[in-house]
Amino acid sequence: MSKTDKLTIALSKGRIFKETVPLLKQAGIEPIDDPETSRKLILDTNQDNVKLVIIRATDVPTYVQYGAADIGVAGKDVLMEHGGEGLYEPVDLKIAKCKLMVAGIKGQARPAGRLKIATKYINSARKYYSQKGEQVEFIKLYGSMELAPLVNLADYIVDVVDTGNTLKANGLEPLEHIADISSRLVINKASMKMKHQSIQSLIDNISAAIK
Ligand code: AMP
Repeated sequence: MSKTDKLTIALSKGRIFKETVPLLKQAGIEPIDDPETSRKLILDTNQDNVKLVIIRATDVPTYVQYGAADIGVAGKDVLMEHGGEGLYEPVDLKIAKCKLMVAGIKGQARPAGRLKIATKYINSARKYYSQKGEQVEFIKLYGSMELAPLVNLADYIVDVVDTGNTLKANGLEPLEHIADISSRLVINKASMKMKHQSIQSLIDNISAAIK
């Protein structure tokens, strides 16, 4: 890596941070603070020219799109909602895997008429139903989607599912598969040109670590 290029990497706390750290380590980058215990939003690493910014998962594509971070790690679910403008998506990191699915109350027949779908994934859900040629109504939520069918807010939800335990614990079942999700490395398009050598070497090292 060229020592002159400053690199800012945007990550979210939790699953993505934990699963990205070993990949960054393979590229010689090790965070000095732990975001679970530190309140700092900008974390130093063992390399003076590399900083990590710790932000909400849904904000990662925006920081990278506007060049506030050169690089980020974001779930495909988040990228599909964002739209991906201004971003290269060169590597599937194959971490934080799950599925975007339609789910509803277990054993319940499909209600007649226009379906009500509660989700925070409005864009992905709209695309899915429009490809099916189905007219549905969307209700935007920001979390705890599983509750919506239980209290008659919606017929179905569109949400990410990993083990399915959360659905099961709430008497729901997966009904339709929309997309396989995993986290991707995203790169700001201008950074990719201006800091090509540093970023390409990071991409190469991370790709090698995945294999
Ligand atoms: P599950 O293992 O299906 O019970 O998932 C638990 C909760 O974590 C669900 O409500 C999902 O919304 C969420 N979840 C599971 N996997 C992911 C992932 N890879 N990225 C983001 N959220 C996830």
